[in-house]
Amino acid sequence: MLSVDAHLDNILSVVQPLSSLQLGLMDAHGCVLTEDVVATDPLPGFDNSAVDGYAVRLDDAAAATERSPVVLPVTGDVAAGPASPLRVQPGVCVRIMTGAMMPAGADAVIPVEWTDGGVASVTILQAPGMGANIRCAGEDVVAGETVLPSGTHLGAVQIGLAAAVGRSRLIVRPRPRVVVVSTGTELVEAGQPLTPGRIVDSNSPALTAAAVEAGAIAYRVGIVPDDPRKLAATLEDQLVRADILVTSGGVSVGAYDVVKEVLSRLGTVAFDKIAMQPGMPQGFGTIGPDSTPVFGLPGNPVSALVSFEVFVRPALRKMLGATPFERPRVRAVTSKALTSPKGKRSFLRVLLEVKKGAYVVTPVSGSGSHLLAGLARASALAIVPEEVEKVAAGESVEVLVLERRGR
Ligand code: AMP
Ligand code: MG
Repeated sequence: MLSVDAHLDNILSVVQPLSSLQLGLMDAHGCVLTEDVVATDPLPGFDNSAVDGYAVRLDDAAAATERSPVVLPVTGDVAAGPASPLRVQPGVCVRIMTGAMMPAGADAVIPVEWTDGGVASVTILQAPGMGANIRCAGEDVVAGETVLPSGTHLGAVQIGLAAAVGRSRLIVRPRPRVVVVSTGTELVEAGQPLTPGRIVDSNSPALTAAAVEAGAIAYRVGIVPDDPRKLAATLEDQLVRADILVTSGGVSVGAYDVVKEVLSRLGTVAFDKIAMQPGMPQGFGTIGPDSTPVFGLPGNPVSALVSFEVFVRPALRKMLGATPFERPRVRAVTSKALTSPKGKRSFLRVLLEVKKGAYVVTPVSGSGSHLLAGLARASALAIVPEEVEKVAAGESVEVLVLERRGR
């Protein structure tokens, strides 16, 4: 039996970050930058008003109070948009809207709420400070500044910032394209009638969704029966659009475990027993002319998804160029005793909560690899090391955080 770490190390030595390319801004969302994004111009690009109000010369409004307001003639309006030729002369003011360029001569903006809102003339009830309510050019970003360094993972905010500095295209590592295939003659597409002995294919939807959650572009091919010729033909067809292939089922020792048979033939795929539970049988290697990495995951739904978490997700994150490869891990106290088979690393379905400021885990499911509803109730996987058979209630355990529910 191979250890989890040895198997993962092997995978990560084979799988490499994808080559960079230039993508349109929205296609780059979720990708990792491989260039520095440098602002050519400052942000804001020009001094502008932070509020709707009146642009004034400070001296003219400095004496304003509620008891003795200052009244100034309003000589015009500036709205957000084209630069205004207006100049604020001594003794007058200009009505200004949020985002409008500051007119020459003005050095503060009085919010409309501090005035009577007048159009021809305005009554000012409160004095502004120097520069009040002016957003100064360059106060967010100066020209020449690197706003997004190479290696940045582009979330919504980073996409917004790239746009704000004028970039419509970015050089990034693309999202890996993952093709997902379920194998099993017993499988039926969700929503189709079941006949006795048949089950719904839950793996291809789950693994496709998991790949998307990991940042990949995922194609769900769906069900291929346990027929070596059909499986080989499907995989060969799919290779053109795959940076990575993921199959489920057919990797154990049953008589119709065709994935093993077909993948062994198509490339350098090895099938190993990994010292873990769930997920013991695992296939990994490369196939096809481009040596495309392929994962042969076990068919049991929990095994398939836990295998995805432990092996496929880190591989996808590496291809994407994201760091760290793995989800966050924390140490938590277990509220109930946990057991684990000797010599295997267990990934136990638990609910992770914060109680009195400390992480606490509670098992939510039995250990059966078919218990998908139990996995759906879990927010984390407690990891019991190979040499440990029992973790008593109150002891601490390492936890792989799947999502933040319950915190
Ligand atoms: P296998 O690895 O093909 O021997 O499958 C192990 C178990 O997982 C069997 O009970 C299968 O019926 C079940 N199984 C295999 N593939 C899927 C799938 N795509 N969706 C749900 N269950 C599956
Ligand atoms: Mg099968």
